[in-house]
Amino acid sequence: MTLHVDLFSQEMKEFAHHKRQFLEIGRNAGRFPSAVARQGHDGTDVEISVWCSNDYLGMGQNPSVIEAMKEAIDAFGAGSGGSRNIGGTNHYHVLLEKELAAFHGKEAALLFSSGYTANDGALSVLAGRMPGTIVYSDALNHASIIDGLRHSGAQKRIFRHNDVAHLEELIAADPADRPKLIVLESVYSMSGDIAPLAEIADIAKRYGASTFLDEVHAVGMYGPEGAGIAAREGIADDFTVIMGTLAKGFGTAGGYIAGPAALVDAVRSFSRSFIFTTSLPPAIAAGALAGVRHLRSSDEERDRLRDNAQLLHRLLDERNIPFVSPMSHIVSVFVGDDSLCRKASEFLLQRHGIYVQAINAPSVKAGEEILRVAPSATHTSSDVEKFAEALDGIWQELDIPRTEHTRGN
Ligand code: PMP
Repeated sequence: MTLHVDLFSQEMKEFAHHKRQFLEIGRNAGRFPSAVARQGHDGTDVEISVWCSNDYLGMGQNPSVIEAMKEAIDAFGAGSGGSRNIGGTNHYHVLLEKELAAFHGKEAALLFSSGYTANDGALSVLAGRMPGTIVYSDALNHASIIDGLRHSGAQKRIFRHNDVAHLEELIAADPADRPKLIVLESVYSMSGDIAPLAEIADIAKRYGASTFLDEVHAVGMYGPEGAGIAAREGIADDFTVIMGTLAKGFGTAGGYIAGPAALVDAVRSFSRSFIFTTSLPPAIAAGALAGVRHLRSSDEERDRLRDNAQLLHRLLDERNIPFVSPMSHIVSVFVGDDSLCRKASEFLLQRHGIYVQAINAPSVKAGEEILRVAPSATHTSSDVEKFAEALDGIWQELDIPRTEHTRGN
């Protein structure tokens, strides 16, 4: 027992030491415009370039978002004052839900306080309330999806990541009369690859399954008006529910589902993570609404993000630095070793003033450690070039393997 406690406290000390500098950057990052943060060292400011923020489009700094939040604070104060059903529904919650439904071309939308609680609360109802439902879930689905499905108590089958043949094999083996729900993401959060949506929608149609599509890493960034990958492919109607966040592309906070009115009403009526919690502060809803409206009418941020991501893909390819997928703006640079990955992250910070968090187990499998690089619309092409150069130097210095990587899915 003592040994166990000692080991634990030693581990915690190392963890605290390792984390301190990164937490400090995280805390400061948002206080400065664009993708630059400052880290205080002995009273001096060091400029840090941030390459792992999920505020992909820089909307957290967008003047229209900030102005809308300030106005809402002046009008309604800081907090919502209650849960949605007991005094905590504000004008902005309602407007935002209407906007999100229209954005995805669905009958209705429902706001949650985060993307995590949206997945947890919606899936526990959608998979749980219809007796006998079988859920088919991609192997790389996010923790919030996994938790929602656990809470639903529904029978679950895991299909290999993006493996359409495996999904069909599983679904074909189940009785035709059982209700079925396929749950997937469009842009995967850690690998940055994109699901074969049309093929999965086709399977859903042929086997009479409903579909739940998490577009958290796509809304704002892809498709007409930023409505996501399904919209980009012209098949948003084929997905029963589209789920998104307001915390990444839209730069604020909150999560939502959009879908048929009856289904959204069922979630509103039964979802514990919707009912039993304080609603989003009105200012957050107002900021998110301004963000959605801005990105529906402007391609500028999307275009810059796309250009930066494509440039980074090319520069990494030229240097034979392995990354998992060239399909999106999430550029998971493959290291494949826990200690090398931490070192690469530390060296980038110390030598180049670049912050990219190392992603280790359990966020990815042991042996599949990555630097999850997220270029931003606020980076310039010269920032991207400097970043690729810095990475090349670290690869050289640490002798990290090049090419022959895991790309291809
Ligand atoms: N779904 C996916 C795929 C995610 O990556 C995340 C968070 N990274 C969430 C849902 C949860 O979103 P939020 O951060 O708004 O809680």
